[in-house]
Amino acid sequence: MKAFPVKLPSGDRYWTVLDDQMAVVPEADAFLRHARFGQAQAELTTKTYASAVALYLRWCARTGRAWTTAAADLSLFMTWLRYASAELTGVASPAVGSAMVMTGPGMKRQRGEARIENILVGVRTFLRHAVNTGSAPSTVLAQLYELADDRDLPLEAKGERERMAYRLRAQHRVSVPRARRDRAADEEVLALLKACRLSRDRFIVLLLARAGLRRGEAAGLRREDMHFMPDSSPLGCKVSGSHVHVVRRANANGAWAKSVRERWVPADWLVVQAYDQYVLERLSFPHGEHSDFVLVNLLRGQLGAPMSPDAVTELIERLGQRGGVDRAVTAHMLRHGFASNVGDSGGTVDEIARLLGHSQLSSNEPYLHPAQSRIREAVERVPSPVGDWGGPR
Ligand SMILES: [Zn+2]
Repeated sequence: MKAFPVKLPSGDRYWTVLDDQMAVVPEADAFLRHARFGQAQAELTTKTYASAVALYLRWCARTGRAWTTAAADLSLFMTWLRYASAELTGVASPAVGSAMVMTGPGMKRQRGEARIENILVGVRTFLRHAVNTGSAPSTVLAQLYELADDRDLPLEAKGERERMAYRLRAQHRVSVPRARRDRAADEEVLALLKACRLSRDRFIVLLLARAGLRRGEAAGLRREDMHFMPDSSPLGCKVSGSHVHVVRRANANGAWAKSVRERWVPADWLVVQAYDQYVLERLSFPHGEHSDFVLVNLLRGQLGAPMSPDAVTELIERLGQRGGVDRAVTAHMLRHGFASNVGDSGGTVDEIARLLGHSQLSSNEPYLHPAQSRIREAVERVPSPVGDWGGPR
């Protein structure tokens, strides 16, 4: 399996994947043509995708897995990318007898985090396309993303914006009165998302509004903190399902220290998908690739450098103005909205404290803005005493 450039008679170019007999791999080719001509992605993007898919198919072939169902083992694929030598992962089949035992962490690393993350994004996008076109079973999506239930699957084919709108609305049935001061309402979050011009910005809004990160925590994320796999145990992490690690680091002079207040936060389908889109977008900028930070300056500031917390604040402000939100919605209000939505959907105080990274339950209090309907339900849940007090029946 290898990535290979194709020039069409029209002059258009894209990259495809050839198997060991130099024949085009049909599912990979369908995906890459769709990306290039259906979605008008750059030729360079198809090159990135094609090399990722070639590596994935090579790994499947050499470890005896069917590519359609190997998504469940993506974390093993990552271990392979990280530690297997170029000889083992290269285009030529390795010599007989050169098999190795993947002992994992502790061995010499062959590829960096950023490279592996980019490969993973390409593989996820390929598998998503394969599910859409029916060449892979829909259960693969559940392995790649956190899905609430199967009813979401057919919508996969829809545009990204409708999908976000649908998910956000479906998740939170309760509409929130505008008058509440401190939480961002769901409609406001949607308006911000619609105002985004970069995938990066959509990802930031979702990190704040659906994972509840503080702006500084978002700005401090490193690529190694993103565990977007069904199983991260080969990386030495026991948390199952896609999640983000929020680690406090002292960023001065490159030294960092873990804080006792470290936490992980589940990343749902929307967050993972937005991240995938952002990683590809980042690759399309010459200055996008290198930093180990997740959020980097793409269009303003020192290009390629980590975004500052202030840049996140300014971004949310700008999105609010562009999106026609009629009051100033801040990054912190998105976090309030997240906490309140968890509460409105039945989350308990200890769950919310854990998600927000509060060590004391009382710190939650300012974050909770229960929806009116929930306050009413809280009363209605209490059984009626009518029978006991002898009143009207
Ligand atoms: Zn983890």
